[in-house]
Amino acid sequence: MLQKFKENGYEVVDINDDISDVCVVNTCTVTNMSDRKSRHILRRVKVLNPNAIIVATGCYAQVYKKELEEMPEIDIVLGNEEKNDIVHFVERYQNEKKKIVQIQDINQEKEFEEMGEITYTEKTRAVIKVQDGCNQFCSYCIIPYARGRVRSRKIENVVKEIERIAQKGIKEVVITGIHLASYGKDFKDGTSLIDLLEEINKVDGIYRIRLGSLEPKIINDNFMRRLIKLEKICHHFHLSLQSGSNKTLKRMNRKYTTEEFKNIVEILRKYYNDVILTTDIIVGFPGENEEEFEETYNFLKEIKFYKMHVFPYSPRKGTLAERMPEQVDGNIKEKRSKKLIKMSEQNQLEYNKKLIGKEVDVLFEEPEEKNNVLFYKGHTQNYILVKHESKENLENQIKRVKIQTAEVENVKT
Ligand code: SF4
Repeated sequence: MLQKFKENGYEVVDINDDISDVCVVNTCTVTNMSDRKSRHILRRVKVLNPNAIIVATGCYAQVYKKELEEMPEIDIVLGNEEKNDIVHFVERYQNEKKKIVQIQDINQEKEFEEMGEITYTEKTRAVIKVQDGCNQFCSYCIIPYARGRVRSRKIENVVKEIERIAQKGIKEVVITGIHLASYGKDFKDGTSLIDLLEEINKVDGIYRIRLGSLEPKIINDNFMRRLIKLEKICHHFHLSLQSGSNKTLKRMNRKYTTEEFKNIVEILRKYYNDVILTTDIIVGFPGENEEEFEETYNFLKEIKFYKMHVFPYSPRKGTLAERMPEQVDGNIKEKRSKKLIKMSEQNQLEYNKKLIGKEVDVLFEEPEEKNNVLFYKGHTQNYILVKHESKENLENQIKRVKIQTAEVENVKT
């Protein structure tokens, strides 16, 4: 959207330093808290810019347009598909001075909407969205209602964008989507994620291809036999597990069992011996009793993820899980979160310690000064954060360094 405004002669200013004529809030609706924050920000921008045209768009607007329509601070409410025409709607408001609410039924959207040429400000890593929408309907999640059904971006358009990125000197791309594993499901010709990755791998100037969060069931021997031929693929996979108890997974409407998940992890570890696995876990899902949490805990101990993002379950209005009985008390959720975060830190520390004395290739991203010493921070291809002391500017360079000490946040050796 920034790009669209710039192309039409608008100047983009920092909301903290300048008064604006137009303020756009791109809302999120992933939790009830995100809705609250979106409303708060909308009110705040109006206070800071009393004469500005205030636009609310994004997922909250898409799903709960009525709530935003009723807010007097807002002049324009747009859905996700209308973002492409944002300048047109702003200019229409300037002429007519009448509230605009324009939201298409996202379920009618059949094609991936291209946003035109995007200017990248990143130096080392660019995130490329190749797919939108989700057909999974996990019982706790509002995303399918906000983003609609699976739509994939054409391979040639993705490749063209990545070629432009490579020309700018960016070395790493992160391939993302709302449900990446569904890439191609809406095409008639059988194209799938692996076909896309094979084409991206051919782009000169790109050194690393990182995959965003991946539905585990895409991993099988056929997929892996093709994947290991792509030398730019990073050996880092974020597989969203959510729970290690089959009973909880069933209530979540996740489409795999822990047995299947374990098998998938074994396949990954068989093909890549340096693979790093990270995951997301929800604790305190409705009905998660001590026994089910214990199952999750033991399963996680067995899998040993390098890092786990732990989320206490937060009810999302409009979802099935919100209406489930046996909602879990907040203190219990907190206790369970802490237990898993501790395990995650221990796993990370243990893995990092094994790297001491080893040489790794790091793509350096940015400097950091600590106690008057200049460090450069970067990641290995399997996404281990490395800091290296250097007076020389290492930004956007891949360098081989030797690991000397190991630590994780809050835990030191
Ligand atoms: S797969 Fe992900 S985006 Fe889709 S419904 Fe489940 S949690 Fe939401």
